[in-house]
Amino acid sequence: MSRYNNIVVLTGAGVSAESGINTFRAADGLWENHRVEDVATPEAFERNPQLVQRFYNERRAQLLNGIKPNPAHLALAEFERTWKGRFTLVTQNIDDLHERAGSRNLLHMHGELLKIRCRKSGRLFPCRQPVASDQACSCCGQMGNLRPHVVWFGEIPLYMEEIEQALSDCDLFISIGTSGNVYPAAGFFQVAKGAGATAVELNLEPSARGSHFDRALYGPASQLVPRFLQSLTGS
Ligand code: NAD
Repeated sequence: MSRYNNIVVLTGAGVSAESGINTFRAADGLWENHRVEDVATPEAFERNPQLVQRFYNERRAQLLNGIKPNPAHLALAEFERTWKGRFTLVTQNIDDLHERAGSRNLLHMHGELLKIRCRKSGRLFPCRQPVASDQACSCCGQMGNLRPHVVWFGEIPLYMEEIEQALSDCDLFISIGTSGNVYPAAGFFQVAKGAGATAVELNLEPSARGSHFDRALYGPASQLVPRFLQSLTGS
C-alpha cells in the first residue's frame, strides 16, 4: 500500500473532456463559442440575463443528453471506495460526472450546473429543466431572481475553508486536467507543497504551472488517472 495518508485531488475541465464536454479555453479562448465575459460574470447576468440563462440551459441540456462519466471519473470513485486514508476530491467542474461515477467526499468549488439559486434568499433548487430569465422564484415569488448556482469570475469560490483545511495537512496533491489559469485553484498545489505534500500533475500537456510540480505525467485522463491511482495501491 501507499505511504500516503491524506490525498487531495483537484480536477478541472480536462477530466470531463473525453466524456464529450468541451474544456474552457480552447485555442480561440472561447467557451462553447462564447466569451467568458458574456456568460460567466455577474455583470453579464445583470446586462443580459436571457443570454446567460440560455447558455447554462444549453450546458444543462447537453450534460443530460447522453454524457457519461469516463474511466478517469470512475477510477477516482473506485479509489476513494477502497482507500483507507483520507481522500478529498475538489472539482472546478460544474458537471455532475464525479457524483454519477460514485465519488463521495466531493467539493464543487465552482458550483453545480444542475442547481439554481435564489439571489435573494440564497436557497438552492435542483434544476434539470431550462430556466427562463423572467421565471418567478418559488421561494420569494419574484421574477428574475433565479440564477445558475455557478461561481462566476469575480465571485468567491465555495467550500474554501474545507479545501484549505484538507490542503493544510495533505501529503499527496494530484491536479488533473486543469490549465492552472483560474485562481485560487491554480495556487492549491503551492499550499499543499507548503504543507509538505508531494504535488503531481496529470494533464494532456504541461499546464501553466506544470514545471513546479514534483511529478508530471502527460496523456489523456481516461488512461493516465486509472494507471496512476493503481500505482498508488500497487494493484
Ligand atoms: P481549462 O479549460 O482552462 O483547461 C483544461 C485543461 O484540461 C487543459 O490544461 C488541458 O490540457 C487539459 N485537458 C484537455 N483534455 C484533456 C484530457 N483528455 N485529459 C487530460 N487533460 C486534458 O479548465 P479549468 O482549468 O478547469 O478551468 C476552467 C473553468 O471552466 C473552471 O472554473 C470550470 O468551472 C469551467 N468549466 C467547467 C467544465 C465542466 O464542468 N466540465 C467545462 C468547461 C469549463
